[in-house]
Amino acid sequence: MGGMVNMKLLKDRIINDGRVIGDSILKVDNFLNHQIDVSLFNEIGKEFKKRFDGVNITKILTIESSGIGLACITAQYFNVPVVFAKKALSINLDSEVYQSKVFSFTKNTLYNVFVSKRYLKQDDNVLIIDDFLANGHAAMGLMDIIGQAGANVAGIGIAIEKKFQEGRKKIMDRGARLESLAIIESMAGGKIVFA
Ligand code: 5GP
Repeated sequence: MGGMVNMKLLKDRIINDGRVIGDSILKVDNFLNHQIDVSLFNEIGKEFKKRFDGVNITKILTIESSGIGLACITAQYFNVPVVFAKKALSINLDSEVYQSKVFSFTKNTLYNVFVSKRYLKQDDNVLIIDDFLANGHAAMGLMDIIGQAGANVAGIGIAIEKKFQEGRKKIMDRGARLESLAIIESMAGGKIVFA
């Protein structure tokens, strides 16, 4: 019941403030990707906690930059640290890193992501959190890194899934548990239809 209300909150917001670009990009910079609605993020975090209730989670993993805010607010409900994969090697990063390649849906380019070996260990049970699921490249890259660490993928939590793209299928093929809060069936002609 509570979950239904939370999802309705997010879906209503998508309908009211989301803008469809072409047939497959949803701009939600008014509350998720540029300006951030913290109280909505709190509801999303609570809902992830409900969905993964009873699952052993020791760490939340996301990719910079758009996933970080959501991951941090969600982590408050799980009482675990957040690790975000970095897109550039910098002085803040150790030389010992796990590395994977991710194709960017929004920038149409291939980029590397890095996670220090210090922050993912074999005994970690990792919940992946991200704002969007499109073709699943970000999620696959993060699962690849978790695999390199010998850690376990506890699940994947997504705020907005575009079901008409390939991400869900790829994640199901990997046998990972996927929980998406707002699932969009279609955006053809600019009309958002939820599953
Ligand atoms: P994927 O890797 O699943 O193909 O795409 C997911 C990533 O691309 C997310 O991290 C998200 O930042 C970005 N993304 C994919 N589709 C959209 C979209 O429709 N709108 C926005 N704002 N970001 C998207």
